[in-house]
Amino acid sequence: MENNFAVEKSRMIKEQLRGRGIKDERIIQAFRDTPRHLFVPQGYRNRAYADRPLPIGDGQTISQPYIVAFMTELLELAGDERVLEIGTGSGFQTAILARIVDEVFTVERNGDLQARGESVIKSLGIDNVHYSVHDGTVGWKRYAPYERILGTGGVPEVPSSLLDQLDEDGLIVIPVGSKRQQRLYKVKKRGQKVTYSKGVYCSFVPLVGSEGW
Ligand code: SAH
Repeated sequence: MENNFAVEKSRMIKEQLRGRGIKDERIIQAFRDTPRHLFVPQGYRNRAYADRPLPIGDGQTISQPYIVAFMTELLELAGDERVLEIGTGSGFQTAILARIVDEVFTVERNGDLQARGESVIKSLGIDNVHYSVHDGTVGWKRYAPYERILGTGGVPEVPSSLLDQLDEDGLIVIPVGSKRQQRLYKVKKRGQKVTYSKGVYCSFVPLVGSEGW
């Protein structure tokens, strides 16, 4: 079984990541080092490396592998950042980020989901992640500012709390749009100046909260 997973993982990296233009070797290596099947519920393990999102309970999903890699690339990481992630979900994206950057601060509104993700991440020996269960659309003020912020669910507009908690030289990647369809926004702060660039269309579950849906 583990053997099969290794083969499927290599194929996923080759076809879904490299094949679609993911070039950053740190991202590729993070995927190599992270057993995605441990982050999906037992019943879906045989599809863990498939080119699609999968249910993880509570109506939520683990994002498609390519999307995780693509969003990580959009974050333009140097490696020394502190990253705030809104929506831990399965914890897979959290683990990928943690392998690349200094520290990850991950927020999830569903305590059961986060507890599951946290235990998988810790079982892999990853110890540079801070966890909190609260409405992440208001960010996580205590450890702000963050050099990077990643939203793993959609919002109607970029939450002002996230802009406030972003470093003066920082970058936010978050899906913005309607509940059904969004565009991946890249929001850059340079001093007091904020610029928005709208990227590809996508479809994420909503972030539900005071500055979300
Ligand atoms: N990257 C994750 C995707 C999880 S889906 C993965 O690949 O597994 C988005 C997650 O955001 C869900 O787990 C959902 O419960 C969570 N979420 C929704 N609204 C939230 C909020 N206001 N604050 C924090 N998390 C939220």
